[in-house]
Amino acid sequence: MSRLTVKIDTDAITSNVATLVGRTTAAVMAVVKADGYGHGLVEAGRAARAGGATWLGVAQPHEALELRALGDEGRILTWLYGPDFPARELIEAGVDVSVSSAEVLGEIVAVSRDGAPCPRVHIAVDTGLGREGVTLAELPGLLELVKAAQREGLVRVVGMWSHLAWADAPGHPTIDLQARVFRQALVIAQQASIALEVRHLANSACTLTRPDLHFDLVRPGIAIYGLPPVEDPEGKNFGLKPAMSVTSEIILVKDVPAGQGVSYGHEYVTVHPTTLGLVSAGYADGVFRAAGSVAEVSVRGRRYRIAGRVCMDQFVIDLGPATTVCVGDEVTLIGPGGPSAQDWATAVGTIDYEIVCRFGGSRPKTFS
Ligand SMILES: *Cc1c(COP(=O)(O)O)cnc(C)c1O
Repeated sequence: MSRLTVKIDTDAITSNVATLVGRTTAAVMAVVKADGYGHGLVEAGRAARAGGATWLGVAQPHEALELRALGDEGRILTWLYGPDFPARELIEAGVDVSVSSAEVLGEIVAVSRDGAPCPRVHIAVDTGLGREGVTLAELPGLLELVKAAQREGLVRVVGMWSHLAWADAPGHPTIDLQARVFRQALVIAQQASIALEVRHLANSACTLTRPDLHFDLVRPGIAIYGLPPVEDPEGKNFGLKPAMSVTSEIILVKDVPAGQGVSYGHEYVTVHPTTLGLVSAGYADGVFRAAGSVAEVSVRGRRYRIAGRVCMDQFVIDLGPATTVCVGDEVTLIGPGGPSAQDWATAVGTIDYEIVCRFGGSRPKTFS
């Protein structure tokens, strides 16, 4: 096992959720899908609850069931599945379920008819993302089915929701366009006499930039981990603190002459006699191979670019000729005083979401 360590500051998640709660009059659903964006499903869920999240949101049914199994008793919504999803388990566990099609509604009604408790359903509306949800054209037909099932007491529609395509580009015209379509969907629901408990649209970016689109419930994900997807005009990161840090260790230092090629393909060649440091972490640990020669790490408060290619379990940094760095020194890949998840994202051409999912998914985490 390499020396890569992923530490999660659960107090930061609690504090970030409390900060978001303070920015809205809506209820907050903390999104903890994909193992809490790599921060730990159950730990992130608990920390979010402590910060005032009255809802937790997950994409996949098994995540909702795991939260329940490990003791979460609050409201949970899950939204991503096809018609073969575990409807009975979810409904018996008191998980709210999203409906994107008549087929899924049919499954839910069938389970209910078969004696399960009355399911709590949120209708997903595709207002322009082109992903989950029914289109505005399909909505009246779906609501007819809902009304028939509601008359028999087989289902309760409690929510209507949608998701934005461009929320991280404040001012993008699609935001208002999607909001308008969402409002039309709400009117259609109202005309069908469907009494909604919660209407929800906002992800992190929308929660931070568009208070007028919070409706009854906001669904921040990345922001609860301290990584806002939009820039704070006040330069204070909206008061959010990154919750994940990633460190490793120098396991070998050695002096080499000028002209020494480093790592596979000799992409990096030393220009002076220097000292190389071998870091115990590689692409098997979530260090993007694309980070070779571009991403930086920090040791003893100084930044070093990765020298040449990232290997499966290791990479090299050039410590320079007069280094005091020695074996056992901590290497910060992400963390206070070192690079951020956004720095890694910029270096490898992705978003910080993928960076934390990848590092966090690579191994057991430690929590504080
Ligand atoms: C992932 C997701 C969110 C959270 O998005 P962030 O950009 O991380 O805030 C909210 N709603 C849905 C439907 C999602 O899939």
